[in-house]
Amino acid sequence: MADSRLEIKNLHARVVDGETILRGVDLIVPKGEVHALMGPNGSGKSTLAKIIAGDPSYEITEGEILVDGESVLEMEADERARAGLYLAFQYPVEVPGVSIANFLRLALNARRDEDDEIGVMEFYNKLQNAVKELNWDDSIIERNLHEGFSGGEKKRSEILQLLVLEPKYAILDETDSGLDVDALKIVSQGVNAARSPNFGALVITHYQRLLNYIVPDVVHIMVKGKVVKTGPKELAMELDEKGYDWITSQLAA
Ligand code: ADP
Ligand code: MG
Repeated sequence: MADSRLEIKNLHARVVDGETILRGVDLIVPKGEVHALMGPNGSGKSTLAKIIAGDPSYEITEGEILVDGESVLEMEADERARAGLYLAFQYPVEVPGVSIANFLRLALNARRDEDDEIGVMEFYNKLQNAVKELNWDDSIIERNLHEGFSGGEKKRSEILQLLVLEPKYAILDETDSGLDVDALKIVSQGVNAARSPNFGALVITHYQRLLNYIVPDVVHIMVKGKVVKTGPKELAMELDEKGYDWITSQLAA
């Protein structure tokens, strides 16, 4: 398909009745590629992720978000998920009383037709493969979603969801924050396992460290609500060496 991509076009957005945060974001993630979005704290990376997910606390004043050529702006968050978007948040929520297994079965079936529920065996195979991919213990699937999870466990759980739900596009916000190196490697292994010609990802991170494990096809740098530079993976290294001041001074020049 010619339009197999997640496209953000000239996106302007503000907090409802408040401050403008995004000032014309342009970004394309073609299916089959993993892109990194980097930028100083406060540049609007998490806001972009939340807006793509359909967070109602922001309003879009201009621009478009297209999934395979189709606008998602009028869609509620659950419809966006059905359209193939998956968001992993910087701060995942807890869902007490619902096990990971039940949550994922419900989420998978919500994306399928009513008369086409996933078979029990098929579901558990998929889930167990994903658990194995993340070097996790089988018992994890009976734990309540994120209840009492450490930061690292929550991140791992989000990658587990990604592997089971198989979205078309995933946005992973600061998947590396609060992870030690071992956990970072496992999470990266999961993202790399999800790589396929039918999957595109935008990995949001402040640090270059994560990109040693998830090697991006393209790097975008966001400053003050705009993507100011897009380049190959080496751009992340350059940024790490020279610091964000290098980008902002280039902009000022
Ligand atoms: P990043 O993820 O790049 O660090 P954020 O998207 O979290 O940046 O934040 C960008 C800016 O927008 C910050 O100045 C932040 O305080 C502001 N902001 C984001 N969301 C809200 C909100 N709901 N209400 C008020 N200000 C917000
Ligand atoms: Mg953030």
